[in-house]
This record gives sequence, structure tokens and C-alpha cells, in this order.
Amino acid sequence: MGAAGKPVLVKAPGKLNVFMRVGQLQEDGYHDVATAYQAVSLCEEVKASPASDFSVSFEGPIDVNGLELDGSNIAIKAARLLARTVDYRGGVRLEITKRVPIAGGMGGGSADAAATLVACDALWGLGLSREDLHAIAARLGADVPFALMGGTAVGTGRGDELSPALAKGSFHWVLVLADYGLSTPRVYRELDQHRERNAADLSPAVVAPQVDADVLQALRAGDPHMLAESLHNDLQAASLHLAPALAGVLELGERNGALAGIVSGSGPTIAFLAADLDSAISLQIALSAARLNVTRVTGPVQGARVLHD
Ligand code: ATP
Repeated sequence: MGAAGKPVLVKAPGKLNVFMRVGQLQEDGYHDVATAYQAVSLCEEVKASPASDFSVSFEGPIDVNGLELDGSNIAIKAARLLARTVDYRGGVRLEITKRVPIAGGMGGGSADAAATLVACDALWGLGLSREDLHAIAARLGADVPFALMGGTAVGTGRGDELSPALAKGSFHWVLVLADYGLSTPRVYRELDQHRERNAADLSPAVVAPQVDADVLQALRAGDPHMLAESLHNDLQAASLHLAPALAGVLELGERNGALAGIVSGSGPTIAFLAADLDSAISLQIALSAARLNVTRVTGPVQGARVLHD
């Protein structure tokens, strides 16, 4: 247990997909993907306190009113699954400070789930290994293992078969957050429909997608110019189709000094890569002046970890 059942505080990062290739629709309704994840400094905080049942509450700089607080919340699912797996008989009270946009394509729910696993492991004194936690995380969602691992990684399969990637230095990003969400399944459906409609003109979706070598090289070199050239997201066209206003945001960022802009995951968050801190600050000022909701972050950062006071 956290000493004498004392509350445990855990921080877990949101993510950007700096590369995302989506393979063919599989018979089980899922797609194989090849993605390069980068954990960024927009983080969720989960406080876990002893309780006999399971509960969750949210507060934070973003509007958390729409979130379900029952067993459908991924944080509750994570705590319950962990308890079931190790046959723990108690519960937990979870208090989450939410900063990652909801349904924003940055894996906020996944970060909550990863942080919850780490927090309950400490609170309940389980002492599970990272491998054990990873296996439980993978059952909760494709992005949960990465929120646990953090840093930079390549994800294949559904995104949950992870291998760490070498990365140097720190990249500066300016994020434009939307005041609405996009449902990930809806964006994938849009992509499938687009591919069907244009089957005659498009080359068929790949069977076993891979991350391009130049992305990995750019990450290894810590070179934002090189990374800007190789940012790619197969979901971007589908997100833009569902939220056409995002195209104007992308143009505005690129006109104001961004090296490149990309829809994060299934959107609608837009991530702009800046050459350095100074250009990130100028870009942040320009986009804020256009009344957009803007945040500056860096990556990579660590995965879910206990914060000690
Ligand atoms: P991804 O990029 O991994 O697809 P996302 O960042 O687009 O995810 P999330 O905010 O993680 O989206 O979650 C999407 C949906 O999951 C929300 O619309 C909400 O209904 C549901 N949900 C359940 N639990 C949570 C949670 N703890 N935080 C956010 N959303 C949650």
C-alpha cells in the first residue's frame, strides 16, 4: 500500500502520433496500424485514495462535464480490471486532473487508464512489474500501453505492440485544441468510406503497414526540420472531412512559422512542429491572437509515474 494507505499521485502523458499509417480494414472490424508515438508534456494527474468501492471524479482546465463517472469510464475500467486480475477485494477513489482534450486524438482516456494502473499498483502494494502492467494495459485499449511506457515508440498491430525508438533532444510543439471532440471509430469509418468511394484511384491500403525509415531517423537525430518533412497521418483527410474548419487552422499555423502541422491521431487536435522554443512562442502568440485555444508542449516525456512529495 502507499505508506499506511496514503493517497498516491501519478502523472501520465498525452501523446502525438508523428506518423500514422492505417492498413486495410480487417474482418474483426479493426485496422492494423503503424505509428510513431511521442509522449508530450500535456499530462493527466490521477490521485488514488483508499476506498471500499470504485469511484472517479474529474476537475481541470478543460470542460469535464460530459464525462461518464460510472463503470464506462476507462479509469474505473482500469482499476476494476487490475483488482480482478490480482484478486484484490477493496476499491479505490480516483480524482483526476484532466488537461488532455477529451476525444481530441491525444489519448487522454488512455493516459487516465495507465495512470490509474500505476496508482492502484502502488496504493494496493501489489508491486507488479512493468510487463504485468503492460499486459493489463493492452486489454484496456490500443493506446494505453504507450501512456504507460512514454518516450518515443513505434506501435504496430492495433498500435499496442510497442518497441521503444531512439530519440534525441526535445521537440517543440504548439497544439490547437478544439472545443469539440471527434469519435475515433467515426474517423476510421470515414477513412474506410473514402477508400471505398475512391477505390479506382487509390492504391490499395497496405496489409502490414510500417513506419517510414526517415521518421525514425529524424527522431534519432532530434532534427525538427527533418521530422517536419516526414510527419504523416493517414487519418488526417478523414478528420478534415468531418471537421473542415481544421484545414484553415493548419494553414494559419504554417503561415505563422510552423515547420509543419498535423492532425493528432483521429483529431481534432492540431499539432504544429516548431524549429525551436522562440518560434514556438511566436507561433503560440499568433494563434492565440486568432482566438484559438493554444498550448505549447515539448516531447518526448516519461510515461506514467508516481509523483513523490
Ligand atoms: P485516442 O487518441 O486514444 O483515440 P482520444 O484522445 O481521441 O483517444 P479520449 O479522450 O481518450 O479520446 O476518449 C474518447 C471517449 O472515451 C470520450 O469521448 C469519452 O466518451 C470516453 N471516455 C471514457 N473514459 C474517459 C476518460 N477517463 N477520459 C476521457 N474520455 C473518456
